Amino acid sequence: MDSPNPSLFPKNSGHRNKPADERADFPLADADRCVKCALCLPHCPTYRLTRNENESPRGRIALMQGLAQEALPLDERAASHLEQCLGCRNCEPVCPAEVPYGRLIDAGRRMVRAAGHRSRRERWATAVMTRPWATRLTGGLLRLYQWSGMQWLARHSLLRLSPGLARLDGLLPDRIGRHRRRAAVRGEGKAVQLFLGCLAEEIDPGVSDAAIRLLERSGHQVVIPPNQACCSAPAQHGGDDQTARRLSDRNVAAFDGDTPVLATASGCTASLMEYDEIVSEASHRRFAGQVVDICDWLQRLDWGSAQLSLNPIEERALLHLPCSQRNVVGATGSIADLLARIPGLELLTLDSRGQCCGAAGTYLLGQAAFSEQLGQALADKVVAERPRYLLTSNIGCKLQLRRQLRRRLPECEVLHPIELLARQLQ
Ligand code: SF4
Ligand code: SF4
Repeated sequence: MDSPNPSLFPKNSGHRNKPADERADFPLADADRCVKCALCLPHCPTYRLTRNENESPRGRIALMQGLAQEALPLDERAASHLEQCLGCRNCEPVCPAEVPYGRLIDAGRRMVRAAGHRSRRERWATAVMTRPWATRLTGGLLRLYQWSGMQWLARHSLLRLSPGLARLDGLLPDRIGRHRRRAAVRGEGKAVQLFLGCLAEEIDPGVSDAAIRLLERSGHQVVIPPNQACCSAPAQHGGDDQTARRLSDRNVAAFDGDTPVLATASGCTASLMEYDEIVSEASHRRFAGQVVDICDWLQRLDWGSAQLSLNPIEERALLHLPCSQRNVVGATGSIADLLARIPGLELLTLDSRGQCCGAAGTYLLGQAAFSEQLGQALADKVVAERPRYLLTSNIGCKLQLRRQLRRRLPECEVLHPIELLARQLQ
């Protein structure tokens, strides 16, 4: 079992830090709604990959029930079945008993974390993403690595000997964007607030640039609260509820309570929309209700009066709808309708039912073997369509699929839908 670095992983200060506490807090009533019908199994990517009941929603729910009732030991084997869940929630919309699987797996991960079974890589990734100074430092080091020529040297030496490091290197964007010092208020008109995200804003700031450009051009004043932090998803889904609470409190305090909060990455948007799952207080419920998907917001604008028009493009684009978009955020029709506004664009939607690209937050670091197989299977479908653009609304999916396609389909550019839209602005 990996032991964490004490400076980055301070001891919990009080409640809910012992395995017994976490078992007692597990929402057994939600788990007991599962009637074990198996309708979710064909929709679960890890079950489809392994054909192992323990890697299915039904198997994991039964396992968590056994752990919470102390009928089963929480050993490494039990922990691995919960850790190998993507948290994609493909099992939720197909469940006739409406089992809230997302809530269950978050509680299951709290048991795993309290028992000390989380992987070192996922703990490190969560620690970096949930601390603004660590995120900025990591972004700076990655830019230095890429811009100084160290990446080129590494690719011609060390990375040839280490497939694991080469895989991590391959997840980086081709050119990491320059760090942006963003003004707190931009443009004039109807005010909206923009959520930037943590590591995404450091390594892929072009998405926020595109959002600001589109919003300014459509007559909005864009407010970017400076004290905002990570959405808390890595902590919430990694079983660290104290950090999730701290981050959600910080974001609720940073954003004005009367103005819509627009978010670009579907993984972050999903987490922000469920802040009332982290803290059930009126402030967090209100914040959750303020959050709007950027594509949904843009699509609902009156484009005629906003005087927005787009240049045509005669290319094929394939739209990938991330699991967080399909299963939590929704607004999938808005993304397709928004892209359909680009004259000449041939838009296809990637059929990813029962699949996940394998990025799943920190999963692509902690569960490399499963992540790799899932990413390859989805990339096979993309390659078959040979699109000029692959459009996906989540940063993790973007990094994972770009790495998968770099050699197999080098002419395909992987973008967030709003990046293509902003490029085509007249
Ligand atoms: S579909 Fe729902 S009720 Fe049926 S096994 Fe899956 S989680 Fe349980
Ligand atoms: S969240 Fe995804 S990987 Fe986990 S059990 Fe449900 S469908 Fe399977």
